[in-house]
Amino acid sequence: MAESVDAVVIGAGVVGLAVARALALAGREVIVLESEDAIGTGSSSRNSEVIHAGIYYPQGSLKAGFCVAGRRRLYPYCAARGVGHRRCGKLIVATHEAQIAGLRELEAKARANGVDDIRWLEGAEAMAMEPALQCVAALASPSTGIIDSHGLMLAYQGDAEDGGAVIAFKSAVLGGRVSGAGAIELRVGGQAPMTLAARAVVNAAGLFAQSVAATLEGLDPKSVPARHLAKGSYFSLAGPAPFTHLIYPAPDAAGLGVHLTFDLGGQAKFGPDVEWVEEIDYRVDPRRSESFYDAVRRYWPGLADHSLRPAYAGIRPKLQAPGEAARDFVLQGAADHGVAGLVNLYGIESPGLTASLAIADAVVALLEA
Ligand SMILES: Cc1cc2nc3c(=O)[nH]c(=O)nc-3n(C[C@H](O)[C@H](O)[C@H](O)COP(=O)(O)OP(=O)(O)OC[C@H]3O[C@@H](n4cnc5c(N)ncnc54)[C@H](O)[C@@H]3O)c2cc1C
Repeated sequence: MAESVDAVVIGAGVVGLAVARALALAGREVIVLESEDAIGTGSSSRNSEVIHAGIYYPQGSLKAGFCVAGRRRLYPYCAARGVGHRRCGKLIVATHEAQIAGLRELEAKARANGVDDIRWLEGAEAMAMEPALQCVAALASPSTGIIDSHGLMLAYQGDAEDGGAVIAFKSAVLGGRVSGAGAIELRVGGQAPMTLAARAVVNAAGLFAQSVAATLEGLDPKSVPARHLAKGSYFSLAGPAPFTHLIYPAPDAAGLGVHLTFDLGGQAKFGPDVEWVEEIDYRVDPRRSESFYDAVRRYWPGLADHSLRPAYAGIRPKLQAPGEAARDFVLQGAADHGVAGLVNLYGIESPGLTASLAIADAVVALLEA
């Protein structure tokens, strides 16, 4: 006999925890199944910890809508719950004339997405704000900030648990099937393997969302999109950075470019770059720093030799293959795959952290639809 529960969330990353919180606040009984022994050991602890404004994404996309909506809710949430954050702002910089048209397009895109505080700066204005910077023009985004992502996850976990949710660690979902009785049965591993039947299942397994979905008997495999992995490595700066804003280059096709961010303790880091990989391996190859020096010196010529240290890496769960156009987040509910009570989340790369509260609301709505 399977144990039964109202709702299961697979994965205790920032998105899974936000979903568990939203379901618990909606009065539902929730169990979070997490394969590791702690929250947030996947992408949620391997990112830039930036609260994005919502500048880059195509108008009308889920990324644009969830980023702007999520960010608007995230600042007050962090303030109310004591989650470390700072609205430090960022500059996106054109380092030569050929990038100006692209930067103008980005400004228009930002406004279309509802980022109405974006501001055009001539090179001299930007360099007066940040004397170490070299650029010919910049976009200033005052509503970009930084956040303690672990603190955010702890706050979501606390809210979810206050609402009665339970997190089961070392409880990997090994497979499952759609039972005829309006429930989804999940086979759960760990020290006390069991079968759990749930009316609602949210697959928030991040990089493993496709593998979890592929094990669900009764789900059409054609509904599961291919997964591609784009690794991003970070290098930390030995010594202080002479900037008060985050500094981003004009973006490229697969990522936002090697940018300068700092954490709440002031430690500056550069990254992430883009390296398409076949396997999940978080080791940082120190040789990749060579391309970082070139990329960073375009906007910060004063970067000293030998000042970058390998830091950490994250891996983006991309839905597009290398060279293909960027894809949107995919949230699949019953209307998409035909299984009542199942929501699969695919391709939740950046800005998933910023968007987490908005994604969670959308998942609750999909389950109620
Ligand atoms: C390099 C990089 C930089 C980024 N920078 C930013 C940024 O600055 N700002 C921003 O807003 N976003 C950023 N993001 C995006 C953000 O980090 C992610 O969107 C977010 O962390 C995704 O959270 P998640 O909960 O979906 O996935 P994850 O954090 O990966 O969590 C998935 C969880 O599922 C668990 N799991 C997997 N398989 C199973 C199973 N079978 N059974 C049970 N549990 C399972 C995993 O152990 C893990 O805990 C960045 C991402 C990357 C990779």
